[in-house]
Order: sequence, then C-alpha cells, then structure tokens
Amino acid sequence: MRNKPKWLRAKLPAGPVYHAVNELVETNKLHTVCKSAQCPNMGECWTRGTATLMILGNVCTRSCGFCAIQTGRPPELDLGEPARVADAVAKMGLKHAVITSVARDDLKDGGASVWAATIRAIRHRNPNTAVEVLIPDFQGSYDHLDIVLEAKPDILNHNVETVERLQRPVRKTANYQQSLNVLRHGKKQGFTTKSGIMLGLGETQEEIETCLRDMREASIDIITIGQYLQPTQKHLPLDRWVTPEEFNYWKSFGLEIGFGVIESAPLVRSYYHAEEQSDRYAPKDQSAISA
Ligand code: SF4
Repeated sequence: MRNKPKWLRAKLPAGPVYHAVNELVETNKLHTVCKSAQCPNMGECWTRGTATLMILGNVCTRSCGFCAIQTGRPPELDLGEPARVADAVAKMGLKHAVITSVARDDLKDGGASVWAATIRAIRHRNPNTAVEVLIPDFQGSYDHLDIVLEAKPDILNHNVETVERLQRPVRKTANYQQSLNVLRHGKKQGFTTKSGIMLGLGETQEEIETCLRDMREASIDIITIGQYLQPTQKHLPLDRWVTPEEFNYWKSFGLEIGFGVIESAPLVRSYYHAEEQSDRYAPKDQSAISA
C-alpha cells in the first residue's frame, strides 16, 4: 500500500484503559470489528474505553473486496454470546453501544434472532444504554429485518459502502438498491437510520454526489464518509488518498441537501464517535420506537 499521508496517522494503542478493554473482550470471549477489521481508530477508541462488539462469531460467509474480516465457514452458533455482550457493555459502562456482525448467510434467518436476543440482553442489563445496530442486509429479507426491528434498536445502521457502479467489485454479494431498501424499511417504521460510504475506491465526484442524493432520498438521517484503506495486497487496490478538504466539501454538501448529521473525514468509520453523532441528531418523531 502506498505511504499514508500524515492526516491518516492514528493514535497507537496504549495505556491501562486500552488494556482493560482488551482483557474484557478476551475474558468474555467476544470479537470486535475494531480488531477483526483492522480499524485505524482502535487505539483511540479503546483508550477511551469503547469498543464495537461484533456478534455471530468472527468468520463471515461473504468476502467483500475491501474487508479484512476472516471469511469461510463459520463455527457453530454461540448461544451464550448475547449475555456476554450485555455484560461487556455494562462493564465498559457504555451509554451508547454499537454492535455489528459478520454476514451469516448460512443461517436460516441470517442471524436475525441472535441480533434480537443481543439487543434485548443489552437493554435488560443496561436500561439506560442506547443501542446502535450496524446490520448486514439479510439478503433483502424484510421478515428477517423485522425480527431485529422488533427488538427496538435506537439506531439502525447499514452501510451502502460505495457508489452504485462499484458495488460488484466492493461487495459482490450485496446490492445498492437492496441496501437502500433495508434503510427505507427501517425509516418507514420510525427508526433513526444511518449509513456510510468509503472514498478512494475509484468513484467519481458525480458518483459520490448521486450516491449522497440517493441516500437522502431514502431519508437516511446520519451519514459517515471515510477513507478506504487497503487491508492487504489481496484486497481491492487503493485508487487515491482523499484530502481532508474534499471530506469537508462532502460534509457541507451533505448538510446542504438535508442530512441531520454527516461525519466526513479521513478516519471516520461507521462506528467512530457514534455516541456524539446520535447526541447531535434530534429525531423529529421517535414515537414508533419508544414503545
Ligand atoms: S459482509 Fe461485512 S463482515 Fe462480511 S466480508 Fe463483507 S464487509 Fe466484511
């Protein structure tokens, strides 16, 4: 990979809080997207005492061209995982927990029932914690999505990842319109929705603009935009380093076209500073999810 520009230099992992988070994750036999996806913000987030827990194991049934998570045949379901996730959220003292998962296309419901059990376990153990779920597309099944929504997460997050033209090389088993429909479906039921894209994969300026307009048309509330980082030589090549100035431009553009909150900077990831984003987003009508 080409030498990183200075604006992509992230904080190195260190300190007692970092080690405490690491130990908690290990003791509770959990996985984090921070480690599995080689997130550049891991040092900063774990030093602040937050980690993004990844459920349904750490082996994904898909193999997206950009993603560092291990792929293959996942091991058997771990039915004790929801309770251990809830315990870790309590011990980290999170006011806002972000949970994600690998894709489990091998399971009948795509893992939706485990998602729901995890949301409920977190709520039960941590009644004051907001739960943001960064979900897979459940292959477009609204039935499976509804199993997750019935557990009433506070924020429904699903990434579109890239512009429409680049969907196939970037995530060959997913689909741009299907992802937008997942978010539309959540919005129709009154959920706060969130999505994100990476830049630096070969997209044009016009394509970024169209993608943001499409996300706006799908009534997504919160948007994240960050730099693509090639995890290994086997992953999709980097096309360009996007400057902080360009990220600022997309932020202004996003606000102009009506997004409630838009985070756009080189190191932004969909779970990065998620608590601050949700604090800044004031939904107009949360009645559908407050029951
Ligand atoms: S579905 Fe998600 S976890 Fe699986 S390879 Fe794609 S981006 Fe990574």
